[in-house]
Amino acid sequence: MINLKGLDLGELQALVSQMEEAPYRAGQIMRWIYQRDVEHFDEMTDLSKELRHRLSLCCRIERIQVEAEERSADGTRKFLFRLHDGAMIEAVWIPDGARRTACVSSQAGCGIGCPFCATALGGLARNLTAGEIVDQVLALSRLTGERITHVVFMGMGEPFANYQQVIKAARLLTDPLGYGLGARHITISTSGIVPAIRRFAQEKRQFVLAVSLHAATDDVRDFLVPLNRKYPVAELLAACREYTASTRRRVTFEYVMIRDVNDGLDQALTLSRLLKGMLCHVNLIPLNPVPESGLDRSRPETIHRFAHVLREAGIAVTVRRERGSDIQAACGQLRRSRAR
Ligand code: SAH
Ligand code: SF4
Repeated sequence: MINLKGLDLGELQALVSQMEEAPYRAGQIMRWIYQRDVEHFDEMTDLSKELRHRLSLCCRIERIQVEAEERSADGTRKFLFRLHDGAMIEAVWIPDGARRTACVSSQAGCGIGCPFCATALGGLARNLTAGEIVDQVLALSRLTGERITHVVFMGMGEPFANYQQVIKAARLLTDPLGYGLGARHITISTSGIVPAIRRFAQEKRQFVLAVSLHAATDDVRDFLVPLNRKYPVAELLAACREYTASTRRRVTFEYVMIRDVNDGLDQALTLSRLLKGMLCHVNLIPLNPVPESGLDRSRPETIHRFAHVLREAGIAVTVRRERGSDIQAACGQLRRSRAR
């Protein structure tokens, strides 16, 4: 049985041509899957009964299953989903004004091992398929009854360690026959896989790039993002500069504020020097503490001082407003708490 969710137009065209059907059938099927989110072929009412029957013999349209849900007082809803093989992933629905953001996972678990992150604790189970990634968006909109307007790859996993499926999912989400989002409404966050950033700069669609920097010096970043030993700060920032030069798009740097680890004046000053003049934006994120890590969040006044130093250097800074902290919204935390 072929799972049609995750196939693009070319793949659906190949399938319908094998079935000796007209090529335009592929576009019809694609809309039923990604725009109308149907589960059964019977629902595809503009296809002949005969074709629907033949499709049902060889194909299915898989859905991820809700295992648990938590709701925050601020409206944020977090879901634990079970995949067909029992793997568990999290996705978060974040309403904000007219925006409906889906925060999706790219892998079950993660192999990067950042010590402050709950996802890291279980290691990597496996990569998700494009279909499983897209279905998180469909499921969030199905469960809330509202269309998703923005997608951020900030759930479990390192998107660029699963590059092909992540980009395929992002393309399906932006395809006019797919979910139909604007490319600028899709943000992909990476812990800093340098060759993948270079590859990403060549993508035709202009998805937004976010880079988890979290430190300005290699000694601190080696600890917070172990991948730094492979791609140190200077190399990472060089790749980001190439990206902004070739795409003329800014990079968002994420910086998790962790008390007495990366929130000192020295880090702020070094960061200002490194980023000065670069087409970028810094997002300071107060740590959502994971009990196992022993790490704490920075004090509000420390965060403001840090932001002030960057602004003085002419760097655009925002401090992330916390969402869903009462429901363990830092990704990996819900799965973790259920596993105990
Ligand atoms: N693996 C990718 C994307 C998923 S994590 C990456 O690391 O960029 C998305 C963002 O959430 C990253 O910036 C990550 O550092 C941050 N994050 C992870 N755990 C967190 C926590 N406990 N509190 C606050 N932010 C966290
Ligand atoms: Fe993986 Fe990102 Fe968590 Fe680091 S912060 S362990 S890269 S999911």
